[in-house]
Amino acid sequence: MIKHCVICGKAFNNDRNYKTCSPECRRKLNRRLTLQWLHDKRQQISDSATCSICGKTFKPNFPNEHFCSDDCRFDSPLYRFLSRQYGNAGIELF
Ligand SMILES: [Zn+2]
Ligand SMILES: [Zn+2]
Repeated sequence: MIKHCVICGKAFNNDRNYKTCSPECRRKLNRRLTLQWLHDKRQQISDSATCSICGKTFKPNFPNEHFCSDDCRFDSPLYRFLSRQYGNAGIELF
C-alpha cells in the first residue's frame, strides 16, 4: 500500500502500517511526539505546590514535583536511599 510519510510527505510503500518513510523520519516523529507530550505535561503543572521537606510553597517545574529546591531534594529520604543503594548512578536515576 502506498502511503505518505507524515514527516516529509514522501510517498512510500507501506506494508506494515508505518507512519513514516524512513528510520530518520521515524526519529523525527518520535521527537515531535515527545515534545507534544512534554507540552501537554507542562499544561498540567499547577501554579504552586508544597515542598515535602520544608513545607514551603513553590512553583513546580515538573508535574508531581515535591521539592522546592535542590537542598530539599537532596534531603529527601528517597534521595538518600538511592544514593546509598546506587551511589552516583542512583543520584542520576533520581
Ligand atoms: Zn519521510
Ligand atoms: Zn523545601
